[in-house]
Amino acid sequence: MKIIHLAHHIRTHLGEVAAAGKTIGFVPTMGALHQGHISLVKQSLADGCYTVCSIFINPRQFTNADDLEKYPRTTEQDLMLLENAGCDLVFMPSVEEVFPAGYEPPDYHLGYLDKILEGAFRPGHFHGVCQVVDRLLQMVEPHKMYIGQKDFQQCMVLKKLMELTGRKTEVCILPTMREDDGLAMSSRNLRLTPEQRAKAPALFKALQMVAEGVHLTLPEAEKRAEEFLVSLGFEVDYLVTADRATLEVLENWQQKPMVILTAAFLDDVRLIDNLLLD
Ligand code: AMP
Repeated sequence: MKIIHLAHHIRTHLGEVAAAGKTIGFVPTMGALHQGHISLVKQSLADGCYTVCSIFINPRQFTNADDLEKYPRTTEQDLMLLENAGCDLVFMPSVEEVFPAGYEPPDYHLGYLDKILEGAFRPGHFHGVCQVVDRLLQMVEPHKMYIGQKDFQQCMVLKKLMELTGRKTEVCILPTMREDDGLAMSSRNLRLTPEQRAKAPALFKALQMVAEGVHLTLPEAEKRAEEFLVSLGFEVDYLVTADRATLEVLENWQQKPMVILTAAFLDDVRLIDNLLLD
């Protein structure tokens, strides 16, 4: 497995890979890798791609300095997991490499997507995500990019980014990998104390409670699930049901595909999850 740190090195190398007729698959991550990340790498490999995984903790997408500082860093183990998965190349650029002096972020017009849910609770977060992914795509120029449905709204933002930039990279969205008790795998799970870890699967349970509450009105089903979380000590940012295609927040059950989304704190650790509903 190759490890590259510099943008001009990766450009030269991947230029040769593409010239040899290979399809390049790209998995952007912030490290602290788990089987969710690895499932993306494996799908890229299964699709026959020359597979590039980036590890870069993007300071521009953190809206809280403490969260950035406490973000888990497990580089040695990350490299082992990637090597075992068969990843071809790991790109580990510095902040200066990704955002060189004089870098002017474009104005990404994300509209409604940037105003609701994660956009509302973490102002500027999606602009930071767009900046880093746009820069990484310039450097990697992949044919395909593999991302996780775990970050449902981010998937929509990144599809919008492709529209805005006119990039031809195909966006492949893969299902959320979960622990046996239902907790969505997340780098932030490493920050949970044993007591918090024991409570954390309730987040997914709450989503299932909404889905199972079709005999109630939608607001009733959501309220019941939110109360369940609050009773366990969660501080809920949102627990809503939205139109899966537009992310418009719904007041009533609908026939169209829906998604239930939540974000909640267990003390200072913020977890997110979602559940598709047909
Ligand atoms: P992150 O390192 O958290 O920025 O995540 C990098 C990529 O992995 C993103 O596309 C995430 O959506 C995806 N990802 C994170 N957690 C999971 C999971 N549990 N299952 C599948 N994909 C995931």
